[in-house]
Amino acid sequence: MATYTNSSLVAYKKLSPNHSGQRTHAIDRISPHCIVGQCTAEGLGDWFAKSSTQASSNYGIDKDGRVGMYVEEKNRSWCTSSNANDQRAITIECASDTTHPYAMRDAVYQTLIKLCVDICKRYGKKKLLWFADKTKSLNYTPASDEMVITVHRWFANKSCPGDWLYSRLGDLAAKVTAQLGGSGTGSTAGTATPATGTNKNFPEGPFTVTVLIDDLNIRKSAGIGDNLTGKYTGKGVFTITEVRNGWGKLKSGAGWIYLENASYVSIGKQVSPQKEEAKTEEPKEEVKTASGLQATEFKNLSEAEAVKKIGPLATADQKKSGILASITAAQFILESGYGKSELAQNANNCFGMKKSLSGNTWAGSSWDGKSIYTKKTQEQNTDGSYVTITADFRKYPCVEDSIADHSAYLLGAMNGKAQRYAGLKGCTDYKKAAQLIKDGGYATSLTYVQNLCSIIERWNLTQYDVKEEAAAPAPAKEETKTETPATLTDGWYRVRLAWDNPGSQKGAFKVFENARVCVEQNPGYSVFDDNGNVVYPIRTSNVPYKVRVKIDDLNIRTGAGVNHKTTGEYTKKGVFTIVEEARGPVDSKGTVGLWGRLKSGAGWICLAFSAYTEKA
Ligand SMILES: [Zn+2]
Repeated sequence: MATYTNSSLVAYKKLSPNHSGQRTHAIDRISPHCIVGQCTAEGLGDWFAKSSTQASSNYGIDKDGRVGMYVEEKNRSWCTSSNANDQRAITIECASDTTHPYAMRDAVYQTLIKLCVDICKRYGKKKLLWFADKTKSLNYTPASDEMVITVHRWFANKSCPGDWLYSRLGDLAAKVTAQLGGSGTGSTAGTATPATGTNKNFPEGPFTVTVLIDDLNIRKSAGIGDNLTGKYTGKGVFTITEVRNGWGKLKSGAGWIYLENASYVSIGKQVSPQKEEAKTEEPKEEVKTASGLQATEFKNLSEAEAVKKIGPLATADQKKSGILASITAAQFILESGYGKSELAQNANNCFGMKKSLSGNTWAGSSWDGKSIYTKKTQEQNTDGSYVTITADFRKYPCVEDSIADHSAYLLGAMNGKAQRYAGLKGCTDYKKAAQLIKDGGYATSLTYVQNLCSIIERWNLTQYDVKEEAAAPAPAKEETKTETPATLTDGWYRVRLAWDNPGSQKGAFKVFENARVCVEQNPGYSVFDDNGNVVYPIRTSNVPYKVRVKIDDLNIRTGAGVNHKTTGEYTKKGVFTIVEEARGPVDSKGTVGLWGRLKSGAGWICLAFSAYTEKA
């Protein structure tokens, strides 16, 4: 076992009870810290003398550059939030400013150089190394004459030793090594401020950040001090509305988080406030369990694990809704921060769905219409300022219901008489689908499409897409006429098994498309008008008749609509006998047109386009 000594530079000594006794590892690291205060050696000593402080360091350098000793070098101090590191490191607290970048006086820095030289000399070290890289540093096995610098921020949610010192650690390593007479500074000892370790140049206006650690402190104000909220962000994507000295204000109003440490936070893109308002970072409460997946299960998952969980749910949704699974999964990730947002955690609301959405009603909503989760959210005034308001959001029993409601919204939301997201159903190109969502007004962010696409590409989310069901039939050059009004002002489209069986009613809709979707989800049901006439699917009785197919590759499907699977067969050119007619969607927009069942039993073909078929 090595023989441990103490520095002769010590000007003041007050040993702290806060240590673990003799260290179990030889000294081969030095960890400099920032005190966050321009204190005296005595003041620091008094602080560490209290057992309630539960912290200590081997040395402190006070505001005048005086060295205090609080834990002898032979003992393990309680300093870097890491047992492994403290067992092998000499820890040094340095007086600093109380705010970012926690600058230190020159006297402090000069003493730090001297103290490091002294420590290295006494343990036979010729080089002080700074790699500016956590993984490399912690995995590095120093030669017997090498000492490695490590920093507190690698082990805990801290900015310690502050950016002022962090940016000088290469300089510190070089100067100490030079005074040790070591052979140069080694390949990395002289490295200047590493760009990779520090986030700079934040976007103007609100922007997203991805928090990479589970326990990033949320503070009441922009800086370290006695201002902990006791809350953490958890991993996920969050929105920052204001930056001050490297600290970012969370949009939720929960507080401030430190942004400059690239090990904890990666800076995302500028966002529009309108669609992001549901995202918040307040602490979670447990939600009661239901039969489906609970968003609380995402709480401790890594991003990759969350993707694996959400992907299959998005696939299942695509089979019902026709919306690409990759798009649903990407929106889930973006809107809920991998399922970790407050709304997701507390209400299984993974898409920020408000209680009321622009007065729209739509079919197939899985929301019960009454369960809400109320929370504070920030909204932007017309003058660009933010105001915190209380808003009601939908609460769902499970994640599946949240996904289903979101899809029902995308399929059913109207803008006047037009579907807001027309073309989304059955769209098989995620880039196109993302653009349709953006164009429909889902998000005003200029980078929304790009954000969705980059998430899809990053996680290869197209692996979850259902390919075989998505194909629309031959290109629709000619729109079919729909006799059924798209939206009713009077009366209802009712979905029932039979008109004289009101008890079988699945719903009553103003929007025909919503009623049609309801029928598609309930085989055997029909849409009835107020007079009890079936308006969908219409089966006519002028069969059989012959049609001439004009193209080589007319899809044959298992049912009357592009929402039904293709059989993989085509009719080719020729004359065919139709034995049954029905109306069903003929394009990915849900336009309804005529379909005919082939006498051969092969399936259904679309008769809606004169370019492809004609009566023979
Ligand atoms: Zn520290």
